[in-house]
Amino acid sequence: MTNKYMIFIANWKMFGGLNSLNSINPVIKFLKIFKNKKSVKIIYCPPTTLIYPMYKRLKNTPLMVGGQNCHENHKSGAFTGSINTTMLKNVGASYVIIGHSENRRNGENNTLINQKIKSAINSGLNVIFCIGETLGERKKKLTKKILNRQITSGLKKIKNKKKILISYEPVWAIGTGLIPKINELYETISFIKNKFKDYKVLYGGSVNPKNIKDLKTIENLDGFLIGGASQNSKKFIDIIKKTYN
Ligand code: PEP
Repeated sequence: MTNKYMIFIANWKMFGGLNSLNSINPVIKFLKIFKNKKSVKIIYCPPTTLIYPMYKRLKNTPLMVGGQNCHENHKSGAFTGSINTTMLKNVGASYVIIGHSENRRNGENNTLINQKIKSAINSGLNVIFCIGETLGERKKKLTKKILNRQITSGLKKIKNKKKILISYEPVWAIGTGLIPKINELYETISFIKNKFKDYKVLYGGSVNPKNIKDLKTIENLDGFLIGGASQNSKKFIDIIKKTYN
């Protein structure tokens, strides 16, 4: 890791109730005394029900809050069960995850993802834009082609690069305990960075306190998106500490 500034996204997925908010207290405390605090950015993406209470809890801290998905229309409408980007912004979110493979699997395609990203930018949100190949695509050596398509379509007609964090998350690595070989991951991150210049690029997929020692050696990474391990503050803090060791 040679970056001056690292981003850590905690994706809580569909886990957590009001009690879970207590688990962020150790992270707030840790950040106050952490010697590298100026170069860490932490964004919590809890389930929608926890965005506002979390926002209130984090208000006077450097930590930020984001949503996990949104509707593509930033105006209100008859879309039962949906939440738009204006609403996310209204309850304190500064970020939103878009294109997560768990939602792509439910039918979200690149065109819809592009509409969602535009909506988020329109509402003043920053976007955590997830991309990644499936195991089948990897075996067929299609990774670069897939990533190129996902990014080109997802970011079509989007100019504000500063508002977007690209998170490379191989689908086969999410929640499985598997991570890509370090040299392969370095190559993939370099491919994204060379082709889509000036974007910050994160890695996500089974990041944990053990494998972070290897992952942090990838010098062109800007941070990590952490699912399972982010729900445990001890593990989450451990990952952050080890990134800087
Ligand atoms: C994720 O939620 O995008 C993710 C990477 O999860 P995990 O860290 O559990 O693999």
